[in-house]
Amino acid sequence: MVTTTAREFSMYVGGEWVSGSGEMMDIVNPATEEVVHRVPRATREDVDRAVRSAREAFDDGRWSGLGCGERSAYLNKLADILERRAGELARLETEATGKPITLSRDADLPFGIDNLRYFASVARVMEGQAAGEYVPTHTSMLRREPVGVIGQVAPWNYPFMMAIWKIGPALAAGNTVVLKPAENTPATSIEIARAAEEAGFPRGVLNIITGDEEAGVALTSHEGVDMVSLTGDTQTGKKIMQQAAPTLKRLHLELGGKAPFVVFADADLDSAANCGAIAATTNTGQDCTAATRFYVERSVYDQFVDRMVRAMRDVRVGDPFDESTNMGPLISKEQLERVEGFIERAAQAGYKPVTGGHHVEGQQRGFYFEPTVFSDVSQDADIVQHEVFGPVVVVLPFDSEDEALKHANGVVYGLAGSVHTSNVSRALKFAKHLRFGTVWINDHMPLTSEMPHGGFKQSGFGKDLSIYALEDYTQIKHVMAELTGQAYKNPTPDEHMGA
Ligand code: NAD
Repeated sequence: MVTTTAREFSMYVGGEWVSGSGEMMDIVNPATEEVVHRVPRATREDVDRAVRSAREAFDDGRWSGLGCGERSAYLNKLADILERRAGELARLETEATGKPITLSRDADLPFGIDNLRYFASVARVMEGQAAGEYVPTHTSMLRREPVGVIGQVAPWNYPFMMAIWKIGPALAAGNTVVLKPAENTPATSIEIARAAEEAGFPRGVLNIITGDEEAGVALTSHEGVDMVSLTGDTQTGKKIMQQAAPTLKRLHLELGGKAPFVVFADADLDSAANCGAIAATTNTGQDCTAATRFYVERSVYDQFVDRMVRAMRDVRVGDPFDESTNMGPLISKEQLERVEGFIERAAQAGYKPVTGGHHVEGQQRGFYFEPTVFSDVSQDADIVQHEVFGPVVVVLPFDSEDEALKHANGVVYGLAGSVHTSNVSRALKFAKHLRFGTVWINDHMPLTSEMPHGGFKQSGFGKDLSIYALEDYTQIKHVMAELTGQAYKNPTPDEHMGA
């Protein structure tokens, strides 16, 4: 599998490019199965070095001591450099993830850069409760301060964007960072560090280490880390809670999802089916907000299933570098096997897909999987309850609003969901009662820098994007000033008697 042209990367620690003390890891292009990148596998010692450099950079105030306007200028400069290099970074992203170049170039890169610019700006306008005399003769005021050294662990589905969502608010708030990208997609995170170096970031403020679970464990349990931020699987979130517990670190967890997509008979069915197919297959369904569970009012159920099947068959699957491709391969052989495992278990339970369900025919190489639709599946089936993380959906009928709500909410996840109807009261009722961190009405998927993204229930806690992400990376301090110089005077006996 190894090719001789694989590009080698180093890690960025303490302002230096280092190869670490471990072996190198191969990064495989999921569309060709060739090794395209090689990166160091960080050891515990490498992680320790990165944390110490972030600690030193935090403790001496070389970053938190800057004015917010200065930090904002660094982040804007970083955004400018990333924008200049966006084409090259999009290609790097597609090489490692297999996502269509149109998605990397026209969505992930520009959106990530916009997110970074948002954090550069909003760091200058944080607000809080007014300073005042809540106790007579004492002025109280609030300070929002950085938390310290942030250990961040990212997933492979949107490597560039996830890195920006993590380092953007953390750095804007004055923290220093050690980021570990996912083991199979580190290249664009490393290139963000290269851009930060070009932008003149002070040494040790941003550190990127590459590696697998071992490096992740070393980082999230390190006593020099004050807060851990993970985007990843719900099971990984549970492990990280335990790893972070001995030193009681703050946690910010963005975990798995299993989004419902509720369709009423009064919705525009063509529009809903097209929207649903896009929301199910974008990034090959490897999206925590992907539409996966379709609940459709029984009177239009058969019509909707037909439309959905047609829309899924229309998705163009193929070479990610072909401009007309809508969907590339899954990220890895392991992910392909995971998706196939769900299909096999569904078959054992008596469910057969209406379309799809196999590796894409004619693709000799690459981890391709067909857009797949199951209908008439029971609510408690494995494929309804658990995150597949592939282009696989289930479509179930419902007879009443209450049933739709009960089933839509009937999973352990709570990241995102949508309702499709032309009835405003019903839409608002669902917006209120769906227990998900984001609810769309007559759409599914769009996000914006200004609004929060994050989970309820076992999809985690803490927000990405928006002012709320920035707040998550700060801690509040109450400062109280006594104004008369009498703070330590004991009361006289007369005062005690209330005279
Ligand atoms: P994953 O949990 O397997 O890995 C995520 C990261 O955690 C990787 O960098 C990995 O090396 C690291 N890791 C694994 N075990 C660890 C441990 N014990 N300690 C520390 N680090 C550890 O997830 P993935 O497969 O890369 O990504 C897919 C998952 O991410 C899906 O469940 C998806 O829903 C979720 N996701 C959630 C959001 C969100 O915003 N909520 C966004 C994107 C992806």
